[in-house]
Amino acid sequence: MSKIDITQLVRPMVREIAPYRSARDDFEDFEAQKVFLDANENPYKSIANRYPDPLQCKLKRTLAKIKGVEANQILLGNGSDEVLDLVFRAFCEPGQDEVILLPPTYGMYTVLAQLNNVKVNTVPLNESFQLDLEGIMKQVNGNTKVIFVCSPNNPTGNSIPLEQIQNLLNQFSGLVVVDEAYVDFSTKGSAVRFLDDYPHLMICQTFSKAYGLAGIRLGMGIADSKIIDYFNKIKPPYNVNVLTQKMAFNSFNDQHTTKEHVKELLAERQKLEKELLNIDFVNKIYPSDANFLLIQVDNASKRYDQLLSLDIVVRNRSSLLGCENTLRITVGTPQENIRLINACKTIK
Ligand SMILES: *Cc1c(COP(=O)(O)O)cnc(C)c1O
Repeated sequence: MSKIDITQLVRPMVREIAPYRSARDDFEDFEAQKVFLDANENPYKSIANRYPDPLQCKLKRTLAKIKGVEANQILLGNGSDEVLDLVFRAFCEPGQDEVILLPPTYGMYTVLAQLNNVKVNTVPLNESFQLDLEGIMKQVNGNTKVIFVCSPNNPTGNSIPLEQIQNLLNQFSGLVVVDEAYVDFSTKGSAVRFLDDYPHLMICQTFSKAYGLAGIRLGMGIADSKIIDYFNKIKPPYNVNVLTQKMAFNSFNDQHTTKEHVKELLAERQKLEKELLNIDFVNKIYPSDANFLLIQVDNASKRYDQLLSLDIVVRNRSSLLGCENTLRITVGTPQENIRLINACKTIK
């Protein structure tokens, strides 16, 4: 397949729109010795009296090094949920364009599609929760703009092999969004390696999981710089606040702590898996590349209620396609995991 002209996939309105120019687009460097009277801010200093850098340049320079991409290939958002929403806004004409989702998967894709009035077509993952490539290609029509692939997948925990993602990229000429929210827990690697060869690939990652920063709301899109330029044009100008940028910057410069946490959580996941296998009401534990386990039990709502009565909150995922009687359990601290196991041993 010849290289795809990604600009042809972008909504005409997005191609043509003139972006809002904020004062901070003109002058961002507050370390410069200037008198800033351009943005109607309050001059009295606090940690956040100035507007944030709309393009988060300092943060992106650090991130680019960590991720092995250029800073202009990165989009930052108020959580990756905002990044995903921008995908719909940039690529899908409401009431006309369509997307393909692969259930069981992350619920926000459907919500965002509905919110943007974009039709959803679904192609279930197969019984091993892998891509049904033939089924997907049968669903593609002239209005199919985006396919969302979640790897490692939420709620099932498994990765989609990179070769499968490459096969999809070779066959589908719309935008392929690979949501890698849990990639830092996986040994299978990131689809970032395909970016140079496939301009219709976009990768989403988040700082909510492995980085332990769910509360600051920071998500990331990585793609061809042409795509990122469009996103920069349509995103809210100050979508990542000063406090978030500061805290994320500090965290990225301390990769060691993140790596240690990930290592510990993976070891805990393995322990948890072993312990859960000995619990009578657990029928099956699905293989996981993430910081959670999907387990199949005898009666999910009963077990959910029993655990809740012991102050342990898990997620009942039984309503999702192919997930009857399943619970999704996040790996906690060693003490929390012991409490979970003891609770499982107690309930009858
Ligand atoms: C948790 C999760 C997200 C959410 O990311 P935020 O950056 O917190 O918005 C995105 N995708 C998947 C698959 C997730 O599980």
